[in-house]
Amino acid sequence: MSERFTGNFTQQEPIPEDAIDAALEVMRSGRLHRYNVAQGELGEAALLEQEFAAITGAKYCLAVASGGYAMGCALRAMGIGAGDTVLTNAFTLAPVPGAIASVGATPIFVGVTEGLVIDLEDLEAKADQASVLMLSHMRGHMCDMEALMAICERHGIRVIEDCAHTMGGSWDGLASGRHGAMACYSTQTYKHANSGEGGLLISDDAELMARAVILSGSYMLYERHAAAPAPEVFEQVKYHTPNVSGRMDNLRAAILRPQLRILDDQVTKWNARHDVLVEGLRGTSGLQVIERPEKEQYVGSSIQFLLLDWSEEKISEVLKRCAHRGVELKWFGGAEPVAFTSRYDSWRYAPSQPMPTTDRILKGIVDMRIPLTFSVEDCALIARIIRAEVGTVFQGS
Ligand SMILES: *Cc1c(COP(=O)(O)O)cnc(C)c1O
Repeated sequence: MSERFTGNFTQQEPIPEDAIDAALEVMRSGRLHRYNVAQGELGEAALLEQEFAAITGAKYCLAVASGGYAMGCALRAMGIGAGDTVLTNAFTLAPVPGAIASVGATPIFVGVTEGLVIDLEDLEAKADQASVLMLSHMRGHMCDMEALMAICERHGIRVIEDCAHTMGGSWDGLASGRHGAMACYSTQTYKHANSGEGGLLISDDAELMARAVILSGSYMLYERHAAAPAPEVFEQVKYHTPNVSGRMDNLRAAILRPQLRILDDQVTKWNARHDVLVEGLRGTSGLQVIERPEKEQYVGSSIQFLLLDWSEEKISEVLKRCAHRGVELKWFGGAEPVAFTSRYDSWRYAPSQPMPTTDRILKGIVDMRIPLTFSVEDCALIARIIRAEVGTVFQGS
């Protein structure tokens, strides 16, 4: 009998007990709205911002309703609106082009490499088409950040980082999100900290952050923030910045603060599982593992591999055979968007040119989430299953 995996790919860990206690405390107080605080009190949302700014080393932090909201808010703070264009990754998830479309702007897609990062040559070629890059560290893969920033500086492009998959990661010792002008994180259930929905935005730029705070729906209560610019900065922007409500509440913030305190331990756990999967898959005929650059301190909360130049039928066969043994793989090559997985040409509201080099890679990307409810042994078993099924289908080709 062949081995089967019986774990659940969408089951996350429970919320830690101290986070549950903190949530109960907020509910008992009745003060769930972030600005509903007692005299001199810093609410949970303000404390979360202060702590996340300290974790990343950013001057300012704003907690918002979702990662997608954080991205739209960053674009608005930069003055991006109707008729503008924004460079972004062709390999990413739907909320990224969606955030660009939400402000009336149009994405210009930049290709992906076999390392699953933004193609810097393609970025250079398209650099004169926009003044902002929404850089998505998709599935936690970071490009050569020094090289990317050099290109962007040369062309006067401001960078917003989408760190939905790199919270807790860094590039050459600098926290992911600290290279660009602003960076966005998600605390949605499937990311690195879980408040159901939620987002964080960081920056060192006082004016951008003052605008973001007002945009998020602070009314004129910005002085109740602890990781926001000084009141003078708000004086310059407060009459000209619309309120586009998307605040985080104290309840979600209370759930997140204890989780951020254990983020480094979680990263260690993810990477132990990720690395066992990579080692278990390395050397499988027809399968290419993604080699990580030395400077990348990644968070292995998911794993990808390439079945490059395989036919659609063979890839479907692998997915079917793995699913039959309890291993749920996602494929980025499908013509139809399915669940969380879609590709640049599925976003038909955003016109795109065919990108043959990128299409070849997208067609081969197989993706798997690694919930921390899986043990290291589970991951070894999953790797054995994938290895066997890829081998069987590959030999039959
Ligand atoms: C989840 C995600 C987002 C947005 O997060 P939400 O909180 O769901 O809005 C942005 N980018 C990527 C790559 C994501 O996976």
